[in-house]
Amino acid sequence: MLKPLLMIPGPVEVDSEVLAMMARAPLSHTSPAFIEIFGECLDNLRDVFVAPDGQPIVVAGSGTLAMELAVANLVEPGDRAVVIETGLFSRRMTDLLRRHGALVEVLANQVGDIPQLEEIEAALIKKPKILAVTHVDTSTGVVAPIHQIATLARKYQVLTIVDGVCAVAGQEFRQTDWDVDVCITGSQKALAVPPGLALVMARPRALEAFRSRKVPVASYYSDWTFWLPVMQAYQARKPSYFATPPVSLVAALNESVRQVKLEGIEARWNRHCRLSKAFKAGVTALGLRQVPVRDEIQAVTLTAMYYPEGVDSSLLGKISAEGVTIAGGVHPSIAPLTFRVGHMGIDGIGEVLRTLAAIEIGLEIKSGIGVAAAQTCWMNWSRI
Ligand code: PMP
Repeated sequence: MLKPLLMIPGPVEVDSEVLAMMARAPLSHTSPAFIEIFGECLDNLRDVFVAPDGQPIVVAGSGTLAMELAVANLVEPGDRAVVIETGLFSRRMTDLLRRHGALVEVLANQVGDIPQLEEIEAALIKKPKILAVTHVDTSTGVVAPIHQIATLARKYQVLTIVDGVCAVAGQEFRQTDWDVDVCITGSQKALAVPPGLALVMARPRALEAFRSRKVPVASYYSDWTFWLPVMQAYQARKPSYFATPPVSLVAALNESVRQVKLEGIEARWNRHCRLSKAFKAGVTALGLRQVPVRDEIQAVTLTAMYYPEGVDSSLLGKISAEGVTIAGGVHPSIAPLTFRVGHMGIDGIGEVLRTLAAIEIGLEIKSGIGVAAAQTCWMNWSRI
């Protein structure tokens, strides 16, 4: 039987050791075995975010809950916030901020581009409380220059929230060095765990802002008042409870994070970068135009492309017939014109070549030109 290959921007292919954790009988959340698993997982997550001074929070839920865990605890009604809009998920961030009472200024450019740094600085001079930015917007494949943006935010003492859902563990990100206050992600993207976990990494300034709140957090389940003592207890290898942790998913995350540590976060970023470059070389050779308007704002973790002339979303079905699942467009203004391939959580060039071969078959291109370009790029990597 044809082994299916999942190449969407999350959920992604999951390693067999990680999957095996999901198949074990659930542990008691207060058992010594689970306390060690959760404690180790929280400790090791600091290496994934490169946040030695970060406080991890891991909660049952998806990436959207992780966004809300950041927003609900930092925003008080009437606070001003700036959102750098690079796609659909930045818009979600704007909605969330407004829902929690923030007055939001949105900075946007044409689809596939990001606002200029000068424009961002002009908004920061007005001293909002929060700047929110999506590291990789999964609807456009645009990557934001987080280091530069966070440095600007620091200059004006603005708290930064980075939506790293489609980035953390696949795209270079150094939370402490880059001085990002809060970064959030979900389990189902570059961490390559099944969906179901919301992850937050909060650094001291964010915790301080939370502690000096004047009004209670509007969302009960998201309130850090409950979660911080629980996380700190597991880190101290003590039992704790606020709401039952998803023990099997936490065990799977711990295995994935252990693997990240074993490989080394830098090596993992490099591997993802090399795979992405190879895939992008392949689609470029096939004449496909990407959504990001410049090479340097193309994400590592996924590729968002326009269909060639005369092709529509029926291409996805033809690719799926070859056993490869890729994703259609989701950004409202370009959805019917675009498709997306995620390349997170895969081991090597094999998956990239198979995906390109399926795209060539779907497009009825007989030459293997995309596969060849990807393979050449992969082999020339050390010489780039
Ligand atoms: N932010 C980004 C950048 C995302 O890609 C996604 C999911 N595609 C989300 C937030 C929301 O995550 P979830 O679907 O897990 O709620």
